[in-house]
Amino acid sequence: MGLNVIMMGPPGAGKGTQAGRYARERSLLKISTGDILREAVKDGNPIAIEARARMDRGELVDDATMIAIVRDRLLRPDAKQGFVLDGFPRTVAQAEALDQIMIERGNGPLVIIDVVVAEEELVRRLAIRRICSKCGAGADPGDTGDSCRMCGGELVQRVDDNVSVVRERLRVYSRSTRPVLDFYRNRPTFRVVNGAQSPERVARELDAMIDEAAAERSL
Ligand SMILES: [Zn+2]
Repeated sequence: MGLNVIMMGPPGAGKGTQAGRYARERSLLKISTGDILREAVKDGNPIAIEARARMDRGELVDDATMIAIVRDRLLRPDAKQGFVLDGFPRTVAQAEALDQIMIERGNGPLVIIDVVVAEEELVRRLAIRRICSKCGAGADPGDTGDSCRMCGGELVQRVDDNVSVVRERLRVYSRSTRPVLDFYRNRPTFRVVNGAQSPERVARELDAMIDEAAAERSL
């Protein structure tokens, strides 16, 4: 029986770090939309090349495109054992499509984790975080390298990242994600973890939570 996890949470909550760690420890495929896109672009997938170009221009990639790319990735053999999704689904349409993909694909429950951190703490974390000077991706707090893991661009401390910009980003996140959380909230496999704790503590709670939720064995 496989295991599939969706990791949700605002920027700065540490969900990317936790998603990567969990996937490594459980030998699951970690799938972030940025990674899939980069991979698909490398494979010469024309849909992905167009989507990537749009993202680079700071535009949103439409649901149909995002769904097609994620679907293709989740149905490949190396995702069969299970996956940890980071950055998908971002809309209710994407969440509905994922349910269809899960039916098609089978193998294991879908556990949804929401990493919750209070706004004041997120503002504090984001204000000191480094970002890529080329594509704008945020560096993981534990990342000590100088180059972006998405595009290789130089990581810089964003001096203009003032508090109101951070707050606006969090508002946009919360507004766009609330419908997706509401879509999942009543499922027996939906769990909330307190992301304001130390990464080690979050990891311990997450592991126990996912095991227990997976035992519900429900989509
Ligand atoms: Zn970059």
